[in-house]
Amino acid sequence: MQLYPNLITEALTKVRYPGTGKNIVEMGMIADDIRIEGNKVSFSIVFEKANDPFIKSVVKASETAILTFVNPDVDIKGNITPVTKQVPRPEPGKLLPQVKNILAVSSGKGGVGKSTVSVNLAIALAQAGYKVGLLDADIYGPSIPKMFGEEEAHPCMEFVDGRELIVPVEKYGVKLLSIGFFVDKENALAWRGSMAGNALKQLIADAHWGELDYFLLDLPPGTSDIHLTLIQTLALTAAIVVATPQEVALAAARKGINLFTGKKVNVPVLGLIENMAWFTPAELPDNRYYLFGKDGGKRLAKELNIPLLGEIPIVQSICEGGDSGAPAALNEESMMGIAFRQLAQRVVEQVEYRNVHLEATRRVETGVPKLNLV
Ligand code: ADP
Repeated sequence: MQLYPNLITEALTKVRYPGTGKNIVEMGMIADDIRIEGNKVSFSIVFEKANDPFIKSVVKASETAILTFVNPDVDIKGNITPVTKQVPRPEPGKLLPQVKNILAVSSGKGGVGKSTVSVNLAIALAQAGYKVGLLDADIYGPSIPKMFGEEEAHPCMEFVDGRELIVPVEKYGVKLLSIGFFVDKENALAWRGSMAGNALKQLIADAHWGELDYFLLDLPPGTSDIHLTLIQTLALTAAIVVATPQEVALAAARKGINLFTGKKVNVPVLGLIENMAWFTPAELPDNRYYLFGKDGGKRLAKELNIPLLGEIPIVQSICEGGDSGAPAALNEESMMGIAFRQLAQRVVEQVEYRNVHLEATRRVETGVPKLNLV
């Protein structure tokens, strides 16, 4: 009998997950570890939680489906391993107890405006009254010092509770640190992954960030060791993905999202920001030219079932602002100022919504204390 993984997957489409009406393949519950040796088949089924009440029944139904729809001689009994999706992530507040929310800004590829969005979002959040920190974790192409007009800054050290800590540079109400403050680009480029990771860990753990409402991390593009180092070091609240409407960037964004939602990592994705969504010339502020196609961000957000947090047009002032050290969001009444203010509002709403939801889940899981009234 010749067995193939796709025969197994096909049979498993007959197994519905109770209460959802969807089959377990469609729900992404089949791990990509299907092994076939002779007539022995083994694989894992991924459940959201270790205490899922349907683990036994889903495993049993999967065995039956394979015996019924593939071959009654398949050696499957006892070879399906239920695994839990959630892997332990760093405990919130352990490393930076005074930081309320940590958001990683990522993109599937470079040049989509991830740093521009990080900088302007950080400023818009600070303008809204929040305490904001920004870490340039784009270690091989640090651009944040330039965008803030702080290329010459040299952060100093200070003693805090007996420890010598790096003091972040403060500009436009945002506390910022970048590897660019400490080494020049050529030196950083020569670093091995582990050196870069260690440098970043220092900028996080050995810096005096103090109390922050929002700590934004401008990640390097794509996926790398740096991403994993950060995910393992910090309890990220969520990731934000930046993409342009070009097809390629969207495909890359999809990959970037998978990095966070993968079962080994499991960081929630707060939403998508579509940058360069259209072009508006300064002299015709009401006109929109969709140079890379329309509504790509909306479609991708829908497809991935994540909110579209904002659409940022291509405007010359963004580029000039980035080059001159005065980011566009500083001009609160300009088109860009308004776009970034709205984006900041949406980010805050989504984070607060998540936090309330998490708190409610925690209460359900730990139980509400009962009063003994007798
Ligand atoms: P990334 O961090 O993704 O590599 P950057 O933020 O460095 O990208 O942006 C790349 C270039 O595109 C920069 O020159 C920046 O000024 C420009 N840029 C980014 N977003 C916009 C925009 N919405 N309008 C005009 N120029 C933009």
